[in-house]
Amino acid sequence: MVLAERFAAHGLKCTILEKRPHIGGNAWDCADRNGVLYHPYGPHYFRTNSRAVREYLSRFTDWQHVDYRIKSWTHGRYWSFPVNLETFEQLIAKPATEYEFKAWLAAKRVPIEHPQNSEEVILSQTGHEFYEMFFRGYTMKHWHRHPRELDPSVTARIPIRTTRDDHYLREEFQALPSLGYNHLFEQMLASSPNIEVKLGVDFQDARNHFEARHTIYTGPVDAYFDFRHGRLPWRSLRFEMESFTPDRLVERESIAGKKHHWQPAMQVNYPNDHDYTRIVEIKHATQQPSDCTNIVREYSQDDAPGREPYYPIPAPDARAMYEKYKLLAAVEPGVSFVGRLATYHYYNMDQVTAMALHEFDRLTAPGGPFAGLASHR
Ligand code: UDP
Repeated sequence: MVLAERFAAHGLKCTILEKRPHIGGNAWDCADRNGVLYHPYGPHYFRTNSRAVREYLSRFTDWQHVDYRIKSWTHGRYWSFPVNLETFEQLIAKPATEYEFKAWLAAKRVPIEHPQNSEEVILSQTGHEFYEMFFRGYTMKHWHRHPRELDPSVTARIPIRTTRDDHYLREEFQALPSLGYNHLFEQMLASSPNIEVKLGVDFQDARNHFEARHTIYTGPVDAYFDFRHGRLPWRSLRFEMESFTPDRLVERESIAGKKHHWQPAMQVNYPNDHDYTRIVEIKHATQQPSDCTNIVREYSQDDAPGREPYYPIPAPDARAMYEKYKLLAAVEPGVSFVGRLATYHYYNMDQVTAMALHEFDRLTAPGGPFAGLASHR
C-alpha cells in the first residue's frame, strides 16, 4: 500500500490486488457488534525509532500515544512482564532494590558470551528460573520449536530490565493511529485517484491476466515461485474474538482492576497454561470510551494447506531454504518483493514501511526502472 501511494502520488496508475475482502492485510482493524475496535489478526502495536517512517505515516493519521504494557500469567497469578524489578519482587515475595536484583541475576546467569540461539539469549541474561517461567513454554507453544532451534533475535525482542520499567517495547515512538489502522489505510488510498483496489482477488489466480509495468509482490515468496524449491515453513495463527457487554463484565472487575475491562492489561501471555499463547484486550491501548469490551485469544497453529502464513521461522534451516528463493527473487524481472512474507523475515510494521519507502527510492533512483520519477519530490 505504501508503494501504491508513493507511485500514485507521482502520477502512475496503481492497482492493488487483495485476496481478502478488506484492505490493510493483518494490520486491518474493525469494530465488533458493540462498536468496540479490535485487531482481528492479532495485536499491532505501532512503534518506531525512524523519523522518516513516522513523518511519512503522519501524513495520513494523527496518533494516540500508548504506553504498551502487558502481563504474564503463570503459577496461578499475573506477573509483571517483561522481567523487571517488580517481577523479581513478586518472585521473592518482598520488596527489593535494583542492586539486590542485579546481584541475584549475576549469581543465576549462565555465562554465555555470545548467545547462539533463543534459549541462550535468556539463560545468559536471567538464568533458568525466569527462562522456565516465561520463555520456554511460550516459545514452544508459539513456534512449535525449542528455543534452542530458533535464532537469538526471537527472544531478544523481549527486554530484560533491572529497573521498574515494565514497558513491553523499547522504541522511542509508541502510538496507535488515533482513528485506527483501517482509517489510516483509507486515507492513504484516498490520497490519489490513481489507486484502484480489487478485493477478493488472489494474485496467484490473477497473475496471468494482468499487464503491469512493475509488480510489487507482498505474498509468500515460495508461492510466487510455485514452491519450486519446496514449501517454506511458516507459523499460522487462529484467533477467537469474544465481545462483552457491561453485565458480563461485573464479575471481571476485580481481576481487571478497572471497570468495563476484562483483564488487567492490554495483553496477557500464557506461557504455561491453556492452548492459547495470549489474550489481547486492545481497549486498554485505544482507551475507547465504551461500557463494552472485547478480547482476542490467539492460538498458534501449523501451516497446513489453506491456512494463512503469519510468521516466517527465524531458524537456520528455514533460512537456508529461503536463500534459494532469494536468488530467484533477485533476478525476477519487473517485480519487487516487499514485506514479511515476500522476504521471509520477521519484520515489525515500521520496518516494513521503511522497506517500502526504500524500495520506492531504489526504483526511482538514477539507473532504476522509474528513474527521474521522484526528482520533483
Ligand atoms: N516470548 C516468550 N514469552 C513471552 C513473550 C515472548 O517466550 O511471554 C518469546 C517468544 O519466542 C516470542 C518472542 O519472544 O515469539 C517474541 O515475542 P513478541 O511478543 O515480540 O512476539 P510477537 O508479538 O511478534 O508475536
